[in-house]
Amino acid sequence: MPEQSPNQPSTSAFPLRRVHVTGVRGLTPRMVRVTLGVPSPAGAPFDRPDAQVKLYFPRPGQREPELPAPDPDGDVMRWYGAWAAMPEERRPVMRSYTVRAYDAAAETVDVDFHLHGGPSGAPGAEGPATRWARGARAGDVLGMFGPSEEFAAPVDPGAGDWALLVADACALPALATVVRALPPGHRAVAFVRVAGPEERQPLPTAGELTVHWVYGERPELVVPAVRAAAGLPEGVPYAWLAGEAGVVRELRRHLVAERGADRRAIDFAGYWRRRLTQDDAPTPEDLAEARERLVLLTERTPGPAAPPPAR
Ligand SMILES: Cc1cc2nc3c(=O)[nH]c(=O)nc-3n(C[C@H](O)[C@H](O)[C@H](O)COP(=O)(O)OP(=O)(O)OC[C@H]3O[C@@H](n4cnc5c(N)ncnc54)[C@H](O)[C@@H]3O)c2cc1C
Repeated sequence: MPEQSPNQPSTSAFPLRRVHVTGVRGLTPRMVRVTLGVPSPAGAPFDRPDAQVKLYFPRPGQREPELPAPDPDGDVMRWYGAWAAMPEERRPVMRSYTVRAYDAAAETVDVDFHLHGGPSGAPGAEGPATRWARGARAGDVLGMFGPSEEFAAPVDPGAGDWALLVADACALPALATVVRALPPGHRAVAFVRVAGPEERQPLPTAGELTVHWVYGERPELVVPAVRAAAGLPEGVPYAWLAGEAGVVRELRRHLVAERGADRRAIDFAGYWRRRLTQDDAPTPEDLAEARERLVLLTERTPGPAAPPPAR
């Protein structure tokens, strides 16, 4: 396997970068903003809503993650295969995150890490990405794959007559970018579950946004809040749902079966799974949803859709 560092000059537009921490600051007790210096980001869709990246974290004892070099032919699946074939003790931990903000002049992106598990986090186990974020310091190095238009359909929050947005704390960074992209005056109603009022964040938008904050540790708390929602705007909604996978599934069922929403007008993603890490194999429900997302994608955009490199 090639051991060349991905920060070496490359002529291909392979969306893999070596990024370094330039700043770290706490936004709320459980949300940390990490600013990452991103070399030569020209052309990458960093500032679109819901821009997703895979981050690669060093293993214990490593100063920086060891990454296969960008594939010379730009073949993402071959590169992913090279990553997956690395011995576990050297293979960098891969996790999904959102580009919360992009500063073109400074060539930096912000990624907001929700601190679950561990000291002062939500009850439960702490994962390696969260552990890394708790201790992040200027100069630390990560790998970043994406964002890439090939692997995620563009999100258009102005697609319907109004927008229904649902998120939990770890999906709040993505929700903030969706809200930021609302057309001026466009109606949107958001339900956001966070631990408590101290976890709220301002959500600047040109749209006409109403936010219902739902407080508590249990992910399913947002479901009755959405079910009970009354006085929603008139017209056909576009919906964007992200959070714990089972909760997203239940909300989607509710919107389609009980509120008559068009399933093609719902963008949805399970961001995490109870008692499972992002390394654990997909469940049958995960696989069924991935297939369904692919079908919805091809229904919306003619032509074959490429599969993402991983969950
Ligand atoms: C497209 C996409 C974008 C995402 N963007 C962001 C983002 O911008 N910011 C962000 O903080 N997260 C984001 N996430 C969620 C993040 O990838 C997961 O929370 C991930 O599991 C964190 O990795 P970890 O190593 O800390 O935990 P893992 O090793 O994956 O899991 C360890 C344990 O923690 C539990 N766990 C994992 N996540 C959570 C959680 N959120 N709350 C409570 N318990 C949890 C698991 O059930 C498991 O028991 C995103 C996910 C996706 C799919």
